[in-house]
Amino acid sequence: MSWRDGLELTRVINASGKMTHLGGTAVTADVAGSMAEAAQDYFDMEELIVESGKKIAALVGAEAACPTVGAAAGIALSVASCMTGTEEALIKKLPVTEGLRNRVIIQKGHAVDFGAPVTQMIRIPGGIPVEVGCANMVTRADVEEAIDEDTAALIYVKSHHCVQKGMLSVEEYVEIAHAHGLPVIVDAAAEEDLHKYIDLGADLVVYSGAKAVGGPTSGFVCGKKGLIDGVRLQYRGIGRSMKVGKEAIAGLLCALEKYVAGNVDALSEREAVVETIMRGISGIRGIKVSKKYDEAGRPIPRVWMEFTEDARISAREFVSQLRQGSVAIFTRDHYLNLNCVAIDPRPLRPQDSEIIIKRIRELLEG
Ligand SMILES: *Cc1c(COP(=O)(O)O)cnc(C)c1O
Repeated sequence: MSWRDGLELTRVINASGKMTHLGGTAVTADVAGSMAEAAQDYFDMEELIVESGKKIAALVGAEAACPTVGAAAGIALSVASCMTGTEEALIKKLPVTEGLRNRVIIQKGHAVDFGAPVTQMIRIPGGIPVEVGCANMVTRADVEEAIDEDTAALIYVKSHHCVQKGMLSVEEYVEIAHAHGLPVIVDAAAEEDLHKYIDLGADLVVYSGAKAVGGPTSGFVCGKKGLIDGVRLQYRGIGRSMKVGKEAIAGLLCALEKYVAGNVDALSEREAVVETIMRGISGIRGIKVSKKYDEAGRPIPRVWMEFTEDARISAREFVSQLRQGSVAIFTRDHYLNLNCVAIDPRPLRPQDSEIIIKRIRELLEG
């Protein structure tokens, strides 16, 4: 008897990345074991959140931290904390923010959709996003001009989704904010470096547990002690609707310890998977195969397939057919408009590469 019985589920090979719509990360047996163990036990949940926060903080080198159900929740709770602090009466009132500082500044090129709009996460606790500058160009003056007595925080989004030029650096952003006595929230959801933004002086940094860290559906916020207290206390208010479970906390801690110890997919393993697939699909008419590194600067190599005129089918048709087999293969399709398709090595399991190679040859060689 399996929980899958009776469900018509497609078998999925994820060659796309750490994608929420494909289930984030397939966790290791250790991580799954920690989750099962926690699931079968009881806890004082406030204590579990406090204690796990201390452990996360120690692992990432921050003053304090708080587990969340994901990075999106982390953004909402961080904005809430910047508005209410630790004052319980204010926490209970959200999303009503009358009389509170509630404006949150964001650079236009950072106001992206990661699966949902970042600005919507700001609005959940009652924050008002204030987009500054232009989509491809933001100046110091644009940010300074927008700061007023109702500004609660400035948010910086580090992501491949963002415009990758013309934006202020985190360093400049932190400097401007601190000169005005305001906190900076960094959305570093998918970033691999868990220390960088804390080291650069960010006040709250938000991560997803299911992306680089390789944990279950989860996340955390780390940063300054007072603001993290404010994040945690939101669980008695709007945070209740984004409650983090004991299983998620257990799995996150297990994955995070391994990640910080460097025990998960090293760059050399990623390179090896990319090389294997590149070799396997070389010499096919109509596609130029090369290796390309992540556009947001993370150490992620990917197989890059560029479709030319004489390909048997178009890139668009190719990705659509890949998803239709008895095993659905999802590629990374951000550049489909340029007739390019990428294969991400990170989520692939050992047997996946051969299946991908075989299917690509079937589709493109007929
Ligand atoms: C994935 C992502 C999020 C949301 O993370 P979840 O853990 O899925 O809630 C937020 N911001 C950015 C930039 C992301 O890439």
